[in-house]
Amino acid sequence: MSQKFDVVVIGAGPGGYVAAIKAAQLGLKTACIEKYQDKEGKLALGGTCLNVGCIPSKALLDSSWKFYEAKNGFSVHGISTSELNIDIPAMIGRKSTIVKGLTGGVASLFKANGVTTLQGHGKLLAGKKVELTAADGTVEIIEADHVILASGSRPIDIPPAPVDQKVIVDSTGALEFQQVPQRLGVIGAGVIGLELGSVWARLGAQVTVLEALEKFIPAADEAVSKEALKTFNKQGLDIKLGARVTGSKVEGEQVVVSYTDAAGEQSITFDRLIVAVGRRPVTTDLLASDSGVDLDERGFIYVDDYCTTSVPGVYAIGDVVRGLMLAHKASEEGIMVVERIKGHKAQMNYNLIPSVIYTHPEIAWVGKTEQTLKAEGVEVNVGTFPFAASGRAMAANDTGGFVKIIADAKTDRVLGVHVIGPSAAELVQQGAIAMEFGSSAEDIGMMVFSHPTLSEALHEAALAVNGGAIHIQNRKKR
Ligand code: FAD
Ligand code: AMP
Repeated sequence: MSQKFDVVVIGAGPGGYVAAIKAAQLGLKTACIEKYQDKEGKLALGGTCLNVGCIPSKALLDSSWKFYEAKNGFSVHGISTSELNIDIPAMIGRKSTIVKGLTGGVASLFKANGVTTLQGHGKLLAGKKVELTAADGTVEIIEADHVILASGSRPIDIPPAPVDQKVIVDSTGALEFQQVPQRLGVIGAGVIGLELGSVWARLGAQVTVLEALEKFIPAADEAVSKEALKTFNKQGLDIKLGARVTGSKVEGEQVVVSYTDAAGEQSITFDRLIVAVGRRPVTTDLLASDSGVDLDERGFIYVDDYCTTSVPGVYAIGDVVRGLMLAHKASEEGIMVVERIKGHKAQMNYNLIPSVIYTHPEIAWVGKTEQTLKAEGVEVNVGTFPFAASGRAMAANDTGGFVKIIADAKTDRVLGVHVIGPSAAELVQQGAIAMEFGSSAEDIGMMVFSHPTLSEALHEAALAVNGGAIHIQNRKKR
């Protein structure tokens, strides 16, 4: 007799594992299938995010920032150090310990909530049956009332720079360098390229980012992307825009990269090259030919606004479906799907998913940019407050960047919050909460904010929307 579950989830990333826990909490008999093995060959839950994504990259960003601050930011506080050293294997080891703790934590949560973990490769067959193939080749058929596909994504490979995980690496390889490369190339100025480039630049690498587009961080508000480019250049990141990589040649321990830009054919030599040109959905061997589940034209599993696929009772969430490739988006889709399986009327507000780039300064936003709103013909008022005028930012010697709030000129409703600066990710979340509750700029302006905090910059930006900021001169008069 085959095993039967109310819900079978394929993939234990932030989409799948959150969905599985929620399903079990709601009383559904739930199994989660995962095949990922860590370096020791042990099953590791948590997907890309916990194993080779959000968490390890943030661990290295935090370590490298401490080093960078100790080297460049302590003297202003009157602190001096005699000699500063970094032990890269120890830094990488700390990162791995954090990953292990968290992936083990997911396993414990599965146990505590009664989720059955099934190790192996899952494939959806017709009739909501799932074929589970274990590492030793043993095959088992599992039956389910509901199947959630959460197989995630993997790095895109480009023919001009084939990854060998030695000299040319993808994001996973870039989390494992055992020494700081002297000359580091990064292809792609997206979130991942900027974050990983920053890690190694802070530790002393001379970093060049090659980006095919002319525009820097096109999804961000233009004021933010302009400020970011200026700051990153000042930090020593050489960001070449309009530079399309066309080829590469590994020569021993270095790689010669060719690219074209406005001036024509160029070449540049690096000791290591990170390919960070985006990610693509994982659907390899996931769907039997008669499963009935459709893909869209870009290879993502086709779903509607509720993550329902073309087969009733089969859902897909996270990076394997349309939309932002972010862990929190995946998790919330998982929650929505499970709530709907239980018959609840859950839905997701896709307009209020915060985006974050964990560089320094951090960059984060939620809602629309000023350019998008103007293109849509929406009349807006804008309030901006620079961290240079924030007492808390001055105390921390971290005064770069600003908060920008965009509100509808007629209703004053907040339509976008954009932050570049210290703790931008945390500040933008306050904007997201306000926007979720339909807040106006005036509403935020009327609230009491603790002093001195970085959050006051959000308060002042909201006041500035209608010309009422206290600690800067208002551009707009009341
Ligand atoms: P995944 O996390 O990719 O998980 C899918 C899981 O399914 C994997 O474990 C895989 O092994 C398993 N699987 C696939 N197919 C099968 C199968 N057939 N059978 C069994 N198992 C299968 N996002 C953020 O929000 N914040 C960040 O700071 C951030 N930083 C990132 C940094 C890096 C370097 C990278 C690479 C990504 C980062 N992301 C970040 C993106 C984030 O990791 C993804 O958006 C998120 O992991 C997507 O979750 P998911 O559950 O859809 O898929
Ligand atoms: P993202 O999709 O946000 O991770 O960003 C990936 C970036 O890589 C995009 O901005 C692409 O324009 C860029 N990119 C893709 N292919 C190339 C290439 N051959 N040379 C340089 N940049 C590239």
